[in-house]
Amino acid sequence: MVVVGAGPAGLMAAEAAATVGARVTLRDQRRSFGRVLLLAGRSGLNLTHDEPLEQLLGRYSDGRELVEPAIRAFPPSAVRTWADELGADTFVGSSGRVFPAAMRATALVRAWLARLTELGVRFESGTPWTGFDDTSERTVLALGGASWPLVGGDGSWVTAFAASDIAVDPLVASNAGVDVEWSAALLERFEGTPLKNVAVSVGGRTVRGEPTITASGLEGGPIYALNPQIRVALAGGQPWLEIDLQPDFTEAGLAQRFADRRRPKDSLATWFRRVGLQPVAVAIIREATGNQPPTNPGDLAALAKAVPLPLQCLASIRRAISSAGGVVAGEVDESGMLHRRPGTWVAGEMLAWDAPTGGYLIQACLSTGRRAGAAAAGLRAG
Ligand SMILES: Cc1cc2nc3c(=O)[nH]c(=O)nc-3n(C[C@H](O)[C@H](O)[C@H](O)COP(=O)(O)OP(=O)(O)OC[C@H]3O[C@@H](n4cnc5c(N)ncnc54)[C@H](O)[C@@H]3O)c2cc1C
Repeated sequence: MVVVGAGPAGLMAAEAAATVGARVTLRDQRRSFGRVLLLAGRSGLNLTHDEPLEQLLGRYSDGRELVEPAIRAFPPSAVRTWADELGADTFVGSSGRVFPAAMRATALVRAWLARLTELGVRFESGTPWTGFDDTSERTVLALGGASWPLVGGDGSWVTAFAASDIAVDPLVASNAGVDVEWSAALLERFEGTPLKNVAVSVGGRTVRGEPTITASGLEGGPIYALNPQIRVALAGGQPWLEIDLQPDFTEAGLAQRFADRRRPKDSLATWFRRVGLQPVAVAIIREATGNQPPTNPGDLAALAKAVPLPLQCLASIRRAISSAGGVVAGEVDESGMLHRRPGTWVAGEMLAWDAPTGGYLIQACLSTGRRAGAAAAGLRAG
């Protein structure tokens, strides 16, 4: 059998099939394997998330039905055991994210490829999948979405699927940054700086965390988590987000603090620092007011609790962490096999589920990859 795509879904499909004795060829269009995983590991690889299973399944807001049985069969505890057996020595971070001790993916990918070699998997690099053919060979497709085409896939498989009348929801950026037009002055000092312990609100939802200022806008957990609300806000013509720079204070409490901590000779910057605002937060206040922040404690507190930032658009899918959209639930059976293409399975981000960052993405890719690989091998055995 053939597995195409050497991301977490394809590598796991190959492992699951080879473990039960299938002869597996693993193909990828790239010259090396697991490149998206290696990229993901640069900022600390979250393999899965440690929380009650029901809560974890609730993270898959779109397409939960596509991943739930697979995750129940290969849940986070199993992912940790699997990774630990590869020497990852996983641990749970304070936010529930599960990391390999090395934080990066390099050692894990190396050990994984060695395990696949031991299991007899054949590797064929530089071999793009260009469409369905009429071979009778069982195939698992794990071609990913359309984010980071420089290292992974570009979603061009969608065309071949459409030609075969397989319904695919359009691939759109998910867990993407948002574009904000910063002034050159702000960027010069604060590009790459995180806004620590703030709360971001869009469309009635608020998420706490540490968004980071980038050349084109804001990146990071709270922004990614708010992608659905940002999409709605952009579509509805109300493209604003608000940043609460002091979420641990009520507005009245913060106004009192501004009043208490003012000294007659203080510059604005010194006064703000006494209140506990980090320099980047002060710069955001200046940015939002055209460098004319109010000087009255009450007005300042109101502003600091909800600094408005106009949004331009979600960052391009080419820079997003993942893609939403993909093959819809009605097109596959419970093992991920395509109804219209018996003998071809689909796994990982190609399926139309979506989830936030924090380990949920790789978890779903590993689980659906395992399901597809085992089913494809099982068919052979049967
Ligand atoms: C910067 C970054 C950080 C991330 N961090 C995390 C994290 O910490 N935790 C988490 O859960 N998720 C994270 N993710 C997301 C996670 O990496 C992806 O969800 C996951 O890699 C998707 O797995 P996949 O196997 O479906 O596809 P991919 O990993 O995208 O792999 C698809 C493979 O298919 C190959 N391919 C594509 N098209 C073709 C073709 N036509 N022919 C042949 N080969 C093809 C590609 O070359 C690629 O190797 C991160 C993503 C990025 C970009």
